[in-house]
Amino acid sequence: KKYDKGLEKSRKTFGQRMNELFAAFRTVDDEFFEELEETLIGADVGFETSIRISEELQKEVKLRNAKKKSDVQNAIIEKLVAIYEEEGEGENNAVNLQTDGPTIILFVGVNGVGKTTSIGKLAHRYRMQGKKVLLAAADTFRAGAIDQLVVWGERAGVEVVRHNAGSDPATVVFDAVAKTKNEGYDVLLVDTAGRLQNKVNLMKELEKMKRVIEKEYPGAPHEVLLVVDATTGQNAMVQAKQFKETTNVTGLVLSKLDGTAKGGIVLAIRNELHLPVKLVGLGEGIEDLEDFDSNQFIYGLFK
Ligand code: GDP
Repeated sequence: KKYDKGLEKSRKTFGQRMNELFAAFRTVDDEFFEELEETLIGADVGFETSIRISEELQKEVKLRNAKKKSDVQNAIIEKLVAIYEEEGEGENNAVNLQTDGPTIILFVGVNGVGKTTSIGKLAHRYRMQGKKVLLAAADTFRAGAIDQLVVWGERAGVEVVRHNAGSDPATVVFDAVAKTKNEGYDVLLVDTAGRLQNKVNLMKELEKMKRVIEKEYPGAPHEVLLVVDATTGQNAMVQAKQFKETTNVTGLVLSKLDGTAKGGIVLAIRNELHLPVKLVGLGEGIEDLEDFDSNQFIYGLFK
């Protein structure tokens, strides 16, 4: 139900193309599987993943001697779910919240992907759950980024630790960690600058922030969430690959899923990058953030 609104566009292309595919073929033959590959690739499932799905399905269909189109259709859905789940569904799909101390989450991602918005939405969610939430404006590279986070802090009704633009992000984090400790915050969400143009600097900057956090809270940060914009499709894949090489990303926030037909990218991210999608953005409003549920999501694509 929760994906009804967000998946509308993806469903139209994905589900519709699948239906067209099944309508066009009398029997499920080699040509059908070729078309299936094309359809999956066209739905942003990713080249490798699409080929794999098609090849494995082809074997299974032969093995089971499935002739009915509806059997094959169900087999496709089952295969998509299986491919997603083989990476350890349920183990690491949810945001890793701590029960014995504060939860500290770093957000990474390039400008414009929806990082600030996602932080604001998550801050709102945790505040509504009665948690004491603090934001840290450690994207000090752009003055705009700091102001924007302050606006979201006001919207969510949570405090923001900020310094001037151009100051050391690790100092912002240091202050935020101290405040978290002294004032007993439950959740600290850290906004960081995602300048992929200079990977070495980015890496150093993130490592420095992590050291500051770790010093006070061993084992933290508990998540490094990469925000990617679903509307950019394969470009989001490229960004995810690059960030993965730069830092140990623990999960993804897939934003703007409501504005795109590229929902299939979830499968490519999981199968080719081995990263779990933890949260999805389904709109610009403060409530438009959902936990990712692979079953609901994949079945939702075919509804
Ligand atoms: P940042 O530069 O990564 O912090 O990006 P912002 O959080 O400022 O978001 C950039 C734009 O994307 C803004 O206009 C947001 O309203 C919009 N946006 C963010 N998340 C979503 C989403 O889930 N759905 C839609 N439709 N728009 C979003």
